Amino acid sequence: MELSPNLHWLDGGSSNLYLIVEDDGLTLVDAGMPKRQQLVLDAIQQINRSPSELTRIVVTHADVDHAGSLAAIQEITGAKIFASAATAEFLVQGKSPKHLPWHMQFVVDKFMRYKPVSADLIETVQEGDILPVLGGLTVMATPGHTPDHHAFFCPSAGVLFAGDALNTRDGRINPSPPRVTADQEAAAQSAIRLLELAPATIACGHGRPSSSHSADDLMALFNQLRKPA
Ligand SMILES: [Zn+2]
Repeated sequence: MELSPNLHWLDGGSSNLYLIVEDDGLTLVDAGMPKRQQLVLDAIQQINRSPSELTRIVVTHADVDHAGSLAAIQEITGAKIFASAATAEFLVQGKSPKHLPWHMQFVVDKFMRYKPVSADLIETVQEGDILPVLGGLTVMATPGHTPDHHAFFCPSAGVLFAGDALNTRDGRINPSPPRVTADQEAAAQSAIRLLELAPATIACGHGRPSSSHSADDLMALFNQLRKPA
């Protein structure tokens, strides 16, 4: 679904992928669960571009629902992968960071490994780096949901790729659900930092991307997350 001419939302079922469309190349934000490569290829075909034009895959964190099809999409397209050093450590092992209740974590660790990618395909990024995407995509360390979590913000378009630092449900914007959050305090601080950007579009990892929220909506969550003085 087209959010704007250069930003497409790909509904991966259990998580979202985003395709950024620019003349000089395509960029994918997150790679969805395993077996989502066709979803990406179909989206590329629909806009009359070719898979080899996908030059970058940006990964917010190494959970299986965000990195599951990374290896497959990379192999088809030859794209470079952009991820933090902490995320890269998991991507090369095909492992998700630990942050779930023990029974869920057990299932993920045992049955939901994903195909790893080789380290030389990954360009590591860190807080403050700016990727040459959408006129400048700023890398923001946003730990909490997982320790390796990063978000990506485009100031000129007001688009925030929030990963799992923020999600939407029934039109409401929420922080990472406590049950699947590694560090609550860090997650609250990360969410506050992202809300302070006053993003016009929140391209979140789960739930419909939000662009109809008001400043009051953002402020309400901001106040809820701020510790009482
Ligand atoms: Zn997720």
